[in-house]
Amino acid sequence: METVRVIVRSRPLNKSEKERGNYSIVQFDRKINQVAITDIKTNIAKTFAYDAVFDDTFTQTQLYDESAYPLVECTLQGYNTTIFAYGQTGCGKTYTMLGVPHDSELRGIIPNSFAHIFGCISEASEQKVFSVRCSYIEIYNEEVRDLLNYDPNTKLELREDKNKGIFVHHLKEHPVKNIADIGAAMEGGNQHRIVKQTNMNEKSSRSHAIFTIYVETSELQNGKNLLRAGKLNLVDLAGSERQKKTGAEGDRLKEAIKINLSLSALGNVINALVEGSHHVPYRDSKLTLLLQDSLGGNTKTLMIAVISPADYNYDESLSTLRYASRAKFIQNKPKINED
Ligand code: ADP
Repeated sequence: METVRVIVRSRPLNKSEKERGNYSIVQFDRKINQVAITDIKTNIAKTFAYDAVFDDTFTQTQLYDESAYPLVECTLQGYNTTIFAYGQTGCGKTYTMLGVPHDSELRGIIPNSFAHIFGCISEASEQKVFSVRCSYIEIYNEEVRDLLNYDPNTKLELREDKNKGIFVHHLKEHPVKNIADIGAAMEGGNQHRIVKQTNMNEKSSRSHAIFTIYVETSELQNGKNLLRAGKLNLVDLAGSERQKKTGAEGDRLKEAIKINLSLSALGNVINALVEGSHHVPYRDSKLTLLLQDSLGGNTKTLMIAVISPADYNYDESLSTLRYASRAKFIQNKPKINED
C-alpha cells in the first residue's frame, strides 16, 4: 500500500437538484482512475488522475473495503495513519466519514473502522494483549478544545517535546474496551461540535475535528515482549467553499477566513511535500501542526476528495479536484513504531 493515497468520491444529484434541472458534469473512468469535469461555459472537459475514483454508485461498504480497510490494518500493525475528507459543504464529507452510524450498510468510515478494530481484537490470539484509547479535539478559529472533556472556556495549548513531537497539552486519552464504548465517546464529542448556519447547508461544520484512536499491542514472541503502537487520526475538515457563495458576514466571515487559512496551509504543506522542499510550512496553522506526524515521514494517509456532480458546483468541484491532484504525489518512507 502506498504511503499517501488520494481518492475521489462523488455524491449523487439530490432530489431538489434534479427538480431544478441540474445535471452531472463529471465522468469517472475506473480503469484509469480518472475524473473528467466539463466546463459549463466552454463545454471543454478537464481530466485528473488519482489512486482510485468512486462515482455515486459505490456503497459505503465498497468504499471502506477498497480505501480505508488496508490503512486500518496498518494501524493495527503499528503505523500512524490518517484519513480525511476534503471538499465543499454538502458534497458528502460527513456522509463519507460518519454516514448513518448504527446502520451497518450506511455507516461511514469512522464507525466501520471501530467495527474493524474491535473485530480484529476479538479474533486475535490470546498471546496478543491490546489497549485502545481515543481522544477527540476540535479546532475552531485556531483554538483547540477537547470534545470528550468539553469546557467551552478551556482552550488547549499545543506543546512540543523532543520525544513526542507536537502534542496537545492536557488532552485526555480515554480507554475504550469495545465498540459501544468508542461509539459513545464519538457521539458524546459530536454534541459539542460547533455547527452554524450558512447559505450552503443548514448544518455546515465550521470547525475541523480530529478523532484519534490509539492502538497498542503487546505480544510475546520468542520469549520477548514485542510492543506495537499505532494511531488512526480520523479528520473531519470544515467545508472548503468560498466566502462569497456562503453569504458570510461578521463572525461567520472571520470563521470562513480561518477555515480557508488552515485548508490552504494544508494545501501548502502538501505542495511542499510533493516538491520535496526542505521547508514544509507545518507551523502556518494548528491543523497542519497537529497533522505534522501524519503528512510527512513515517505515516500512511488517505485523502478523500468529495465532489458534487452538479453543473452549478463547477468552480468548487474543479478546485477540489485540483487540490486533490497535488496531494497525490506525496511520497514518504513508511516506518513501523516498534520497541
Ligand atoms: P458535508 O459533510 O460535506 O457538508 P454531507 O455529508 O452532509 O456533506 O452530505 C450532504 C447530503 O448529501 C446529505 O444529505 C448526505 O446524506 C447526502 N450524500 C452525500 N454523499 C452521499 C452519497 N455518496 N450517497 C448518497 N447520499 C449522499
